[in-house]
Amino acid sequence: MEKPKTDKQKPVYGMASNCAFMISRAWRDAKSVLLICAGLILCAVAASLLELFVTPMILDAVGRGVSPGELTVLIAQFALGLVCVYSLQTYLKANTLFGRVYVRLKLSIEQNLLECRTAYPHIEDPDYLQRAAKAERVLSDNNQAGEAVWATMTDLASNLVSFTIYLLLLSQAGPAISLLTAALAAAGYFAGERIRSWRYRHREEEGKIHHSLNYILRRSQDTKLAKDVRIFGLGPWLVQLYDKHAQLFYDFCVKGRRRYLWADLLDVALALLRNGAAYGWLIALALRGELSPAQFVLYFSAVGGFAQWVTGIFQNLGTLRRQSLELSTLREFLDSPEPFRFEDGAPLAVKPSHLYAIELRDVSYRYPGAEADTLSHVNLTIRPGEKLAVVGKNGAGKTTLIKLLCGLLDPTEGVVLLDGEDIRQYDRRDYYKLFSAVFQQFAPLPGTVAENVAQGEDVDLERMWDCLERAGVADQVRALPQGENTHLGRQLYLDGVELSGGQMQKLMLARALYKNGPVVVLDEPTAALDPIAESQLYQKYHDLTRDATSVYISHRLASTRFCDRVLLIENGGIAEEGTHDSLLELGGRYAYLFDIQRKYYAEGAMENE
Ligand code: ADP
Repeated sequence: MEKPKTDKQKPVYGMASNCAFMISRAWRDAKSVLLICAGLILCAVAASLLELFVTPMILDAVGRGVSPGELTVLIAQFALGLVCVYSLQTYLKANTLFGRVYVRLKLSIEQNLLECRTAYPHIEDPDYLQRAAKAERVLSDNNQAGEAVWATMTDLASNLVSFTIYLLLLSQAGPAISLLTAALAAAGYFAGERIRSWRYRHREEEGKIHHSLNYILRRSQDTKLAKDVRIFGLGPWLVQLYDKHAQLFYDFCVKGRRRYLWADLLDVALALLRNGAAYGWLIALALRGELSPAQFVLYFSAVGGFAQWVTGIFQNLGTLRRQSLELSTLREFLDSPEPFRFEDGAPLAVKPSHLYAIELRDVSYRYPGAEADTLSHVNLTIRPGEKLAVVGKNGAGKTTLIKLLCGLLDPTEGVVLLDGEDIRQYDRRDYYKLFSAVFQQFAPLPGTVAENVAQGEDVDLERMWDCLERAGVADQVRALPQGENTHLGRQLYLDGVELSGGQMQKLMLARALYKNGPVVVLDEPTAALDPIAESQLYQKYHDLTRDATSVYISHRLASTRFCDRVLLIENGGIAEEGTHDSLLELGGRYAYLFDIQRKYYAEGAMENE
């Protein structure tokens, strides 16, 4: 197996390796793709041979003075052969798409699954996301490399086989002539390509002109400008501006056309030279009596076809090289190393009714590309069963702390320990089973309410209703058109409902309760709740987190009263810690921030009164 190299400039996988990769995928997922490709190659070669031989054979038969009956049979045989080959080719082409699409979709599923299950830091890494988007594009439709490569490989193989047959045939007339024809066809292709790629090489210049033209057009069609255009008489000025850029585009196209004209002239000149030399040679042989009329016609048509195969091969190789670069991008993405251990990590079973201790030992974290640590040398032990609150200003690093705690990120320095053991050794998906969390950005799945709460189709109804009650959303679910069987979201279901932000947040709380993990994490769980629902949640907090260690994040300092310990995060570390009351007594930053919030709410209340 090839190992991915680290050089980012060069593709890791070459053309042969990428073709082999696609063939192995087709062999595994849809063998019909390979069979149909082989069939199409045979058809293409058979058709070109039949077309090549039909006239010389008929001439030969006429020369031999065969009877009209025999001649008719011969022509009918050729016609039948061609009909069969073309019919088979059409049939295969009509059926080739299914297998090719299947192979592409299987790759696409693999790529999507990888993205869904990859270690969380990748999701926050712009470089990974960019590579993922590129890999997605390779598989996005029938014309992208992930599928179009089959057509290129089939064409290339057909052209190579036909080229070999024609080469052998022409070699009989004289090896020199076949070499000359091949060399001139190749020269014509490369010279033409160089000239024709002029537009591609000047795509930035063309892009700029296009951009300006489109901009002027859009602005002049913009109804918001309609009043200005009239009042300030801008019409003629816009037309003038458009004309100026249209002229630039015209000049650009003329420049390109002139070059294409040279390419066409070069093509004609080389074709004349190539065919002239070949035909001259053949005529000389015929005049010397070394070729029969049938052979003459055969070689004569072979010369024309030969150039076509040579050009085809180079074109196919060019396309294949481009597609191979894209396939390498996809494969490099599929090879992305995972920063966490998953299946290869030690298994970690959640022990029933065991309360875990989690420790952050000298933990620092810096986001990729950031210039400073978000958290720096944090030491924190969450005792089994403790109710911890984490407070701090926006951007202080509260969510980052939670992500480190939950194993969504690994510290850039230091270590996170579960009951004294480094969590990096465990299968990270096992570690996630410990956590019942409600994050700020939640993601309901397009399923029923029940499926969302139970995170699957296997729903324990009694437990689900208990969790809905505890989260304070049971009545709202009962009032839905189909109760707990109501679909969420309208993207997939016409009868789906859109819940309000507050209802959704409570539903996500019910989901966390249903999971019943030994560590409950609530990241600003009241952000979308109205004041009554918020106050109810505070009152019920101990019930919600019974038999669990809990971490509660909030920027509302007053909401931490019911917690055993409060941490104030500031300047990348734990600035203060203690109970709500002890921190107020301390009279430090916490007391200061609390005082500001208290005054703000008190003033707000007075204004309302
Ligand atoms: P809090 O939850 O306290 O509001 P966060 O932990 O979300 O704060 O963010 C702390 C700091 O880290 C902020 O300055 C934020 O801009 C930065 N940050 C958060 N997420 C990322 C990210 N994915 N990439 C880079 N910086 C980030």
